[in-house]
Amino acid sequence: MADRQRMAYGKLMSKVALVLFSGGQDSTTCLAWALDRFAVVETVGFDYGQRHRAEMDARQRILSAIPARFPQWAGKLREDHVLSLDVLRQIGGTALTDDLEIEMKEGRLPTTFVPGRNILFLTAAAALGYRRGCRDLVGGMCETDFSGYPDCRNDTIKAVQRAISLGMNAPFTVHTPLMFIDKATTWKLAQELGGQPLIDLILEETVTCYLGIRARRHEWGYGCGKCPACKLRAEGYRRYLAP
Ligand code: ZN
Repeated sequence: MADRQRMAYGKLMSKVALVLFSGGQDSTTCLAWALDRFAVVETVGFDYGQRHRAEMDARQRILSAIPARFPQWAGKLREDHVLSLDVLRQIGGTALTDDLEIEMKEGRLPTTFVPGRNILFLTAAAALGYRRGCRDLVGGMCETDFSGYPDCRNDTIKAVQRAISLGMNAPFTVHTPLMFIDKATTWKLAQELGGQPLIDLILEETVTCYLGIRARRHEWGYGCGKCPACKLRAEGYRRYLAP
C-alpha cells in the first residue's frame, strides 16, 4: 500500500461513517467497505413509497446478520435510521413508485429513473450526519455499467458534496467506492472484504430486482430474472465466476 493511501486509510479509522443502505447488492458491498475502514458505521435507508417493500425487509435481515456472521465488524455497526422521503412518491411518474412499465428506450432515460433521488438522499443523509457529528457519507452510486442515470455520475456526486458542505458549513466527504467499477468487480470487492460469507449473504438476502421478486433463487440470488437490474446482476455474477 502506498504511503499516501495508508495515511488516508489511517485517518478514516478514527471516524464515523454514515452508509446509504438500501438492502441491495451495491449498498451491502458499500456497508462492508465502510465497516472495513471506519471506526463506527451507521446506516440510513429511505422510505420513498417504493412499489415493493422487499428492499426495506432485506435491510433488516442484512443488518441483523452482520454482527453474527462477521465478528470483526460486530462492534462497529451502530444505529440504523429510516427516513421518509414520501415526496418522491407524491411526485411519482416512475416505474419504481407507480404501476408503470419498465422501459429502456434508446436516447431516453429509463422509466426507472426517479428524478432527484440521489440528490435528495445525499442531502437528507448529510442533514442526519450533521446532527450526529458524522461528515463521511458512503453511497453505492456507480457511473459505469448502468442505465446512465445522471444522478449516479461522479460529477453530480461531487457537486452535491460541495453543495452540502457549503450549505451546512461542514466539510462532508461522499465516498463512492463503486463509482468506476463494473458489477463483476463489485462481486470481487465483496469477496475481498468479507470472503465467501459476504458473497453468501449478498446472494441470499439482498434485493436488486426492480420488481422486488423473491420467488425464485437463481445462481446469482433472488429476482424476477428479466428486469434490467436482474440481468445486470446475473451478468456481473457470471463474469465474476468466469476464470
Ligand atoms: Zn428483476
